[in-house]
Amino acid sequence: MKKFLYTFLIFFVLSLFAVQSVFAAAPPQKDGVIFSGSISCGKKIALTFDDGPHPYKTLKILDLLDKYGVKATFFIIGSNAEYHPEIVAEEAARGHELANHSYSHAKLSVMTEEEIRGEIELSDKIIEKASGITPKLFRPPEGAYSENVVKVASELGKSTIIWTVDTLDWAKTPRDTIVENVKTSVTSGSIILFHDFTNKDTHTFEALEILIPYLQEQGYEFVTVSELLAENN
Ligand SMILES: [Zn+2]
Repeated sequence: MKKFLYTFLIFFVLSLFAVQSVFAAAPPQKDGVIFSGSISCGKKIALTFDDGPHPYKTLKILDLLDKYGVKATFFIIGSNAEYHPEIVAEEAARGHELANHSYSHAKLSVMTEEEIRGEIELSDKIIEKASGITPKLFRPPEGAYSENVVKVASELGKSTIIWTVDTLDWAKTPRDTIVENVKTSVTSGSIILFHDFTNKDTHTFEALEILIPYLQEQGYEFVTVSELLAENN
């Protein structure tokens, strides 16, 4: 009986290691697209801001991130960066990650490979000119990816990143709804989607003012998406 118990215990412990190694492996992917960091990355999460740079909304967010020592990732639209290269340079200077969100924010999933390549490469060039940095990450507009989108991004040396938590801030979602949504959905490895450029007035900034200190108090550490993904290795 004792021997049986020992054998059982050994198998139990070994199976725990097996489960652990599965979790510690590559980031969760579907169709070659990344939706989050690994759950075993510790309490690390990534704030992402799409569609900028915006002439004043982005700077306001940058100051708030500095106040709390938070590093974030900006998924930049090339055509907006053309108008405000100085803000792209500012994002880089303050230690944030610059990522590619296409040139014109068109629906890439219905485009040819050539057209997709053109959208990504043109945006890269503008970001490079503004900051000297070539983005390693790509997020298709509206998260609409296809096999071609993922393939072209990969050929251009980029990982395709979607998100774990969508705040729907662009749709003028009330501050408290954004806050509650993030509080209840966030887990280790979450990639959280916000927008620093919107045509409408949104509650993005007010929600961040509450969420950043709250999540830090909960022990979460804000890292860039590349840092989050490096935790999987
Ligand atoms: Zn977008």
